[in-house]
Amino acid sequence: AKKLGKDRYEVFEPTMQEAFQAHIALEADLRRAVVRHEFELRYQPIVRLQTNEITGVEALIRWNHPERGIVPPMDFIPLAEETGMIVPIGEWVLREATSRVAEWNARRSGPPLSVSVNLSAVQLEQAALIQTVESALTDAGLPPAQLVLELTESLLVDHRPATLHRLNGLKALGVRLAIDDFGTGYSSLAYLRRFPVDIIKIDKSFVDDVVDEPTAAALTHGIIQLGRALQLSTVAEGIEHAGQLTSLAGGNCEMGQGYYFAEPLTDTALNGLLFPSD
Ligand code: C2E
Ligand code: CA
Ligand code: CA
Ligand code: CA
Repeated sequence: AKKLGKDRYEVFEPTMQEAFQAHIALEADLRRAVVRHEFELRYQPIVRLQTNEITGVEALIRWNHPERGIVPPMDFIPLAEETGMIVPIGEWVLREATSRVAEWNARRSGPPLSVSVNLSAVQLEQAALIQTVESALTDAGLPPAQLVLELTESLLVDHRPATLHRLNGLKALGVRLAIDDFGTGYSSLAYLRRFPVDIIKIDKSFVDDVVDEPTAAALTHGIIQLGRALQLSTVAEGIEHAGQLTSLAGGNCEMGQGYYFAEPLTDTALNGLLFPSD
């Protein structure tokens, strides 16, 4: 056992220690990033499938790290959640996204755009969240109905009464709630009864296979019909090809987003798309 212990020490400890140190370094970097405002938002258009018009955008965070360049959310959101830093970061996202979209709407003719913001479970645990959302909307001058808060199913697994209470509080402000990555959780249908949801976002994994796999197509079209029956909006995520669009639009999916229409864009790029004459 002693020998095994020694071998383990030699083989595994340097790697473990490196990983640990990298984690600590990243955490320190992330704390600095919050203070120095190193975050940026991208805006991905959400399109009405029957008409091709943009109805809104999803705000997606990026970390513009001084040495590493653009860091995708998957590489720092989990750490931000673990350390609680997601609370100030998430508040920045809410404020930035709502004020940017309010500015665009002030210049636009036609129906106002909505903005979708992703929420973490940690944010939903904060009693102050309702206040934060309300004050972000007021300061931005964005009507509540133009804000969509996206919640993942894993977040809704939480059965504590506080979760339902918080979601009802958000609904009472007039904002809309979306279930993100719909269909990937274990009891998606139960959430539709329990929580005051307005929008279903059909997970990309269904959309990926909607053309080639009859099962994926049947499930996708079933979700769309379920949404319609419950008077919910349906948004298909990750549309990359015309064939997927044909299948989804043919099945009466209301909206979609994906690289086929547009990648997540910088505010400058989205500005150019909305106001070509600038
Ligand atoms: P999500 O909310 O499911 O966002 C959709 C992801 O799919 C985004 O990745 C988007 O860039 C990507 N995507 C969109 N269309 C396509 C497509 O046609 N093909 C492919 N392959 N991908 C597409 P992104 O921006 O890397 O974000 C990843 C995840 O990070 C998000 O997944 C969301 O869960 C989380 N996230 C992003 N921004 C925030 C934020 O501000 N707060 C929190 N809490 N989470 C965020
Ligand atoms: Ca989302
Ligand atoms: Ca999603
Ligand atoms: Ca996702």
